[in-house]
Amino acid sequence: MAEEKTDLKNLTQDELVEFVESLDQPAFRGRQLLAWIYKAGITDFAQMSDLAKEFRLVLAEHARMSSFNGPLIEVSRDGSVKFGFSLDDGYMIESVLIPEEDRCTLCVSSQVGCAMGCHFCLTGDMGFTRNLNRAEIINQVCAVRDWLLAEKTSAEKTSAKKISNIVFMGMGEPLANMDNLLPALAILTEQRGLNISPRRITVSTCGLVPQMLELGSQTNNINLAVSLHAADDATRSRLMPVNQRYPITELLDACRNYPQKKRQRIMFEYTLLAGINDSDETARKLAELLSDIPCKINLLSMNEGGGEKEFRSPPHDRVLRFQKILRDANYSVFIRQSRGADISAACGQLASSADYADDADKKQEKKDKQKMHPSFAI
Ligand code: SF4
Repeated sequence: MAEEKTDLKNLTQDELVEFVESLDQPAFRGRQLLAWIYKAGITDFAQMSDLAKEFRLVLAEHARMSSFNGPLIEVSRDGSVKFGFSLDDGYMIESVLIPEEDRCTLCVSSQVGCAMGCHFCLTGDMGFTRNLNRAEIINQVCAVRDWLLAEKTSAEKTSAKKISNIVFMGMGEPLANMDNLLPALAILTEQRGLNISPRRITVSTCGLVPQMLELGSQTNNINLAVSLHAADDATRSRLMPVNQRYPITELLDACRNYPQKKRQRIMFEYTLLAGINDSDETARKLAELLSDIPCKINLLSMNEGGGEKEFRSPPHDRVLRFQKILRDANYSVFIRQSRGADISAACGQLASSADYADDADKKQEKKDKQKMHPSFAI
């Protein structure tokens, strides 16, 4: 049987060094490879001009560099861009590029589907299929970077320039995929890799407490966002099953213990659902709960295209009132506009290949396929 080639996109710098050493090459060749793959964006060993020809032939025999080709692309009226990437096993994942005046954020996926089952989220509705490997995480960034470079020279310009920030807020719970998340973060931040400052990377979680602490101890300066969405356990458990395992007190204790640099803040995400978690009393309770945690709060209105139909977004004056109560308690509170809602790219709307399938049968087939895999127990 033919040897399966190693996908170099799955390897961190240290692992690339080990890999080249296993091919009787000096360690620095591994670091050179990393720079060719990410800094130069080369996908063909033949073009790695400072590597000996014999070594390039050996590499071509034992290794490959995967990439995402021909993504499905939808551009929103507000300028955000949704990318649908086809995986080798036929599943699709999505990433969303959100250009703003002072930054250009790429929201990446970490799993196909999600096991967490948050009731306001369409991805949660899909159930869990599988974790993305490191290359599948990294290739979302590489493909969008290449697309932006190509756009610069095409007639159809977008307002987006260069990816400045990465958020793990796409499909999946990133902290349920630590084995791939941590090496992917290393590749994203390595100087010879994608060289993105950890301060510009945010990992979002629905509240997996042990993994939050592991992320804090294994990385340096990576921002943490926590989906909170309620100020009491009964409401949070109703919205997010994970709360039954890690209730609010435990979750907020983990936030207090998350290592942060002086000016760093945990970002609490709070989706306002009319009549459920948007009252004055809830805002006051929230202010009390977070009082000793250095944090910022993002308020989002429910995207009515995602999750259970009973959920509605509150009127805007209610959102403003909720914000005012928190601001009066000295919190930095931002009302986040939903971006990409017209292309189902807003928070809670990412739902994989069903959006792209060209007929109803295919949509159903894809949905069934993705629902076949049972969620892991949390
Ligand atoms: Fe999963 Fe996040 Fe959706 Fe919850 S909100 S189901 S953690 S993707």
